[in-house]
Amino acid sequence: MSEPEHVPVCRPELPSAEAIATYIRQIDACRQYTNRGPLVIELEARLARALERAPHAVLASATGTAALEVAILATAGLARPERPLALLPAFTFAATALAVERCGYAPWFVDIDPGTWMLDPGALARHPMIGRAGLIVPVAPYGMAPDMTAWEELMSRTGLQVVVDAAAAFEAVMDAPALISASVPMMLSFHATKTFSTGEGGAILWDNPAGQERATQVANFGFLRSRECRVAGTNAKLSEYHAAVGLAMWDDFTARRAAYARVSGAYAQGVAENRGGPLGGRLHLPPRISSAYALFEADSPAQFSASETALHAALIETRRWYETGLHTQPHFAGAGADPLPVTEDLGGRLIGLPMSHDLSGADIALILTTLQGAVLPARAHA
Ligand SMILES: *Cc1c(COP(=O)(O)O)cnc(C)c1O
Repeated sequence: MSEPEHVPVCRPELPSAEAIATYIRQIDACRQYTNRGPLVIELEARLARALERAPHAVLASATGTAALEVAILATAGLARPERPLALLPAFTFAATALAVERCGYAPWFVDIDPGTWMLDPGALARHPMIGRAGLIVPVAPYGMAPDMTAWEELMSRTGLQVVVDAAAAFEAVMDAPALISASVPMMLSFHATKTFSTGEGGAILWDNPAGQERATQVANFGFLRSRECRVAGTNAKLSEYHAAVGLAMWDDFTARRAAYARVSGAYAQGVAENRGGPLGGRLHLPPRISSAYALFEADSPAQFSASETALHAALIETRRWYETGLHTQPHFAGAGADPLPVTEDLGGRLIGLPMSHDLSGADIALILTTLQGAVLPARAHA
């Protein structure tokens, strides 16, 4: 029996063994395997150059989650009893709130703005819990560009540290390096599901030499130029092996971005043509979001279910990347939260569609035709 045809929601392709081999041989020759070895330094330097910054502005880490913890510890530090809360959105991946918790903060979930899908800096300045908060962690959902100027302003107005979870926003920052701030660190993820990957990995983007030196110390057991633990820390270092994957991925990243652009272009064209007519304006595609995602925004939870059912029947995999908000995940059920109507509404209507750099035109056509079939009858009933 043959396997049925199946369109996976996410199908990463990292560098081949051949592409990594030249870098692995450098590790063999040098015999330094971690602790900021030559390949990590080279990867940071290449990324910093692409982002039009000095090398200190990019600090690689073992995972995106670890980068977030390190950025928090290097700025706000561990939570203090008089300011135990961290304000963050529930419209995000679990890692955001877990990182905050690892640094001793109690997550307090704040709703997002329906237009930007992000926290509203103006509303946060007046938030009733601001006096109990020691940290604000805005999220750039689906790799959208965060408004760093607004976050810098909020930080100077409130005196509260802001650290941005921009896990999927590498492309947005590449296209607008001015987003990199000297005061507000931004975290990236290099997980395999993201567009640029080291397998597991991440980075702190922060144009602040003293701050990045603190982050380097936090990421290495609180050690700096000695084996004395001086600050709250962890082990968040990227290994040379992961850096080898990143360097090989970077060698080919221009071609990878072009391949992604062809796929998102095909999605957009499919929507624009008759075949996708009723879907007009309801697909969220790169470059507004990361090339790792294509999202369909259903009109209603009923249309979400009809669409999901139809896609699954056609053996097309989907994902609710942020589920229905972190406050609905069992571990965070007891966390403090504002009313979250926008998060709940959007979480109930956004479907993650298949996306990969080599998604075929035939698969895209099948996805759009299936979606349209699901959407039309649902609308007729409405
Ligand atoms: C991917 C992602 C993370 C986690 O990054 P890891 O590298 O997997 O630790 C955190 N936050 C958001 C919004 C993400 O998309």
